[in-house]
Amino acid sequence: MSQLSNEQLALVAATRQTLERIVRDFTPAVFASSLAAEDMVLTDLILKSQLPITIFSLETGRLHAETLAMVDKVKETYGYDITLYRPETAAVDAYVARNGLNAFYDSVEMRKECCRIRKVEPLGRALAGNQAWVTGQRRAQAATRSSLMVEEDDPAHFMTKFNPLADWSEQDVWDYIKANNVPYNALHDQGYPSIGCAPCTRAIEPGEDVRAGRWWWENPESKECGLHVVDGKLIRIKSVAA
Ligand code: SF4
Repeated sequence: MSQLSNEQLALVAATRQTLERIVRDFTPAVFASSLAAEDMVLTDLILKSQLPITIFSLETGRLHAETLAMVDKVKETYGYDITLYRPETAAVDAYVARNGLNAFYDSVEMRKECCRIRKVEPLGRALAGNQAWVTGQRRAQAATRSSLMVEEDDPAHFMTKFNPLADWSEQDVWDYIKANNVPYNALHDQGYPSIGCAPCTRAIEPGEDVRAGRWWWENPESKECGLHVVDGKLIRIKSVAA
């Protein structure tokens, strides 16, 4: 088992303190997990310390089987049931009836509408009534990295948003996972550094920008799902790899 350096142990301690502060000052709070590597680090920290932060995922109906398997893996490893938020059936049915099952390939507008129905609206329901939400975003992943803070205002959802891993590097994430035997999505070992819905994510080649694997048929300017907006700018993932 790999060991963490003193610097990494300090990072873990600081992250744990952030999570404890969220519980102390921002209850009720929720953690939006995409079930990817960063989110498994936070899941491990939250559940091993039995912190009362509810963990949820957006089950869009188009996730990979490997991603869905992580829900069972979390149950098996930690005895915890991740809350799943699904899109409104009527909205999905209407979209599919009107446009087809895979209309998101047709235009940016069609893709954004699918994301709105399957992600943005369920996220709003998941966040309702909470004082804060937690994400696994890191500064090193973000195009607007200088603006990604551990704690920030989220005016879109009228609450505080915490990114406890903002200061973590990709290496820190994987070293923590290995050192603590944290389960992770099998797709990370198959060329998927960033994992979204199955039809909108593909494996990338070494050296390719991670965005190359998300909504790859669109130009970079339009790549966003509407979940993370900071200072009016979209947050884009730059590099993550197992
Ligand atoms: S990522 Fe693709 S399938 Fe998932 S909600 Fe967005 S457009 Fe739809």
